[in-house]
Amino acid sequence: MDYGISGTTRLGGLLGSPVSHSLSPAMHNISFQALGIDFVYLAFNVTEDKLRETVHVLRDLNAYGFNVTMPCKKAVMECLDGISKEAEMIGAVNTVVNRDGKLIGYNTDGIGYVESARENGVRIEGSEITLLGAGGAAAAAAVQMALEGAAKIHIANRRSRSWRAAQMLVDTISRETSCEADLTDLEDLSALAEKIAHSSLLTNATSVGMIPDTDATPLPDTSVFHKGLTVSDVIYEPARTRLMREAEECGCRTHNGMYMLLHQGAAAFRLWTGRKMPVELIREKVF
Ligand code: NDP
Repeated sequence: MDYGISGTTRLGGLLGSPVSHSLSPAMHNISFQALGIDFVYLAFNVTEDKLRETVHVLRDLNAYGFNVTMPCKKAVMECLDGISKEAEMIGAVNTVVNRDGKLIGYNTDGIGYVESARENGVRIEGSEITLLGAGGAAAAAAVQMALEGAAKIHIANRRSRSWRAAQMLVDTISRETSCEADLTDLEDLSALAEKIAHSSLLTNATSVGMIPDTDATPLPDTSVFHKGLTVSDVIYEPARTRLMREAEECGCRTHNGMYMLLHQGAAAFRLWTGRKMPVELIREKVF
């Protein structure tokens, strides 16, 4: 019987906690099997206190690489031999590649967001964009859009724990890319409305509207929606957030964060294998 695992199979997987709900093992193992790649992907429940040790073991076992999720995305940077430009700018790593014993960190979350926006007909190059939130998902999306030629990104966050980080993100984008970035208070509705009026894409990268708080919206004023605006949510549970519903009622195109997840995985797969993930197969079997 062929188990698909042999004496030469290489190991990889996901480090973080919790991980048991993750779609990544299905996504990668189906892809490895479909393309005949002798790799396997498992989910490991790892907290920050065990991270360094686990990374050492994976290197010793000649793992091809691994993904990293909460709460380890920042802490893992201390355990690596090199960090890509986008991961450095975002300040977090979600994918590690073993290049001849050297572990190099990347961040594919932003690529996932940009790919999924493009699939939905969004143009990033030369565009003006308003992005709500300044946490991990927001930083990844903002940096990747800036690297891919967005003209202006208006980041909006409430004045709270993330405000300083949001200011640093804006400074990094302005310094490292040709994109102009600025920061607005999410609660200053008139300033925010003006930014949205000039934008062709509005992205919610806050967790507001996610289950179980599905009645919540980060943007209670629906008069800001205009017909030239695409409204995108990084949330995928629920599949249609209140923000998306209200934007659609005002004639906007919308999409959720489901395929951001798929495309961040596809970008990681490419880094590990040099091959293209069979995304249509994964869409059909996993999503
Ligand atoms: P973080 O905790 O890093 O950031 C959360 C962001 O939401 C912060 O900007 C935070 O602001 C803001 N926020 C939270 N509560 C409120 C509130 N009541 N009012 C205004 N702003 C608020 O989380 P992540 O960036 O990792 O995740 C954000 C969302 O993105 C989650 O819903 C997550 O599921 C989703 N996500 C989707 C992915 C995908 O593949 N589709 C990938 C990663 C995340 P403050 O600091 O002020 O609290």
